[in-house]
Amino acid sequence: MYDVIIIGAGAGGLSAALWCDELGLETLVLEQAAEIGGQLLWVHHPINNYLGRRVANGRELRDQFAEQIAAAEFDLWTQAEIESVDLPARRVVLRSGEQLQTITLIIATGVRRRKLGIPGETEFAGRGMIESAARDRDMFAGEDVCVVGGGDAAVENALLLAELCPTVTLVHRGKTLKARGEFVERLKGTHCITVFTGAEARRIIGGAHVEAIEIERHGAIKPFRMAVRGVLVRIGVEPNTELFREQINCDARGYVNVTSEQETSIPNVFAVGDVENPLAPTISGATGAGATAAKVIAGRLNRRSE
Ligand SMILES: Cc1cc2nc3c(=O)[nH]c(=O)nc-3n(C[C@H](O)[C@H](O)[C@H](O)COP(=O)(O)OP(=O)(O)OC[C@H]3O[C@@H](n4cnc5c(N)ncnc54)[C@H](O)[C@@H]3O)c2cc1C
Repeated sequence: MYDVIIIGAGAGGLSAALWCDELGLETLVLEQAAEIGGQLLWVHHPINNYLGRRVANGRELRDQFAEQIAAAEFDLWTQAEIESVDLPARRVVLRSGEQLQTITLIIATGVRRRKLGIPGETEFAGRGMIESAARDRDMFAGEDVCVVGGGDAAVENALLLAELCPTVTLVHRGKTLKARGEFVERLKGTHCITVFTGAEARRIIGGAHVEAIEIERHGAIKPFRMAVRGVLVRIGVEPNTELFREQINCDARGYVNVTSEQETSIPNVFAVGDVENPLAPTISGATGAGATAAKVIAGRLNRRSE
């Protein structure tokens, strides 16, 4: 029997775990991935807005988190595959068949990338769909590519690809890009990037590999086809709440509703970080929410909450 089980080892879950440990709570963190850090592992630009730390990228911050938690005594299981969670009973069942019981539970499962849901997107996985420019761009050196999306992640990836690709086409549904000013300025100075706003990707076409993308400009009579060898999609995120959605109150998009104590609609079940904060998903928001949940739990269990 644990005092707290935390699901997810991103910034929110790890902050909650560190605080729970310091407050004397028996804590277990369950992380489905092989590595801790969650979205930090997707951040390839310098992070200058997390007070007290300046890092070259998210992995560097993740490594600092890992170093800091090494001294803590909470249990951390990576590659933990959860079969089901009974929130009212606070029971977690793993795919391995193991059953875990806890007094309180913290959901810190964050978000995942949204898909376009157009023909070709799934079929060409590993055959021209680019997962990450930072990781995969060498494979697309010298090739024409397309990036779909208009936020920070899309523009950042377009800029990275532009270092090796002769042409990068950025396709964005909205009228203006949503990316931060610094990225948009860099985009303007990068001549091999063409931006189509008010346009949508309709289909990804090819044989053994991606060969083209079909794009429809708003107001145009029909889509046009553009030859590309790679397509990268960054159109936002959605919450990882499938395991819980039927049991707790969520908003229309599936984000968990919480009180100012980070508590969900089920007593002693809490949620922290991006999974409950679509308005301002940040590292500091997630770590702060993790601290709040831990302090509230320690107070309820009469542990050292001062
Ligand atoms: C490209 C990019 C740039 C960013 N730049 C900044 C920035 O400059 N400054 C800033 O403050 N923020 C930035 N952010 C946002 C910041 O990274 C997030 O707000 C923060 O990391 C969220 O942490 P989290 O713990 O809530 O969720 P996540 O980091 O999403 O972690 C959730 C964890 O839960 C795990 N999980 C999910 N489902 C399960 C399950 N069923 N079982 C077990 N584990 C599960 C996931 O594998 C993951 O490890 C950026 C994000 C991105 C993508």
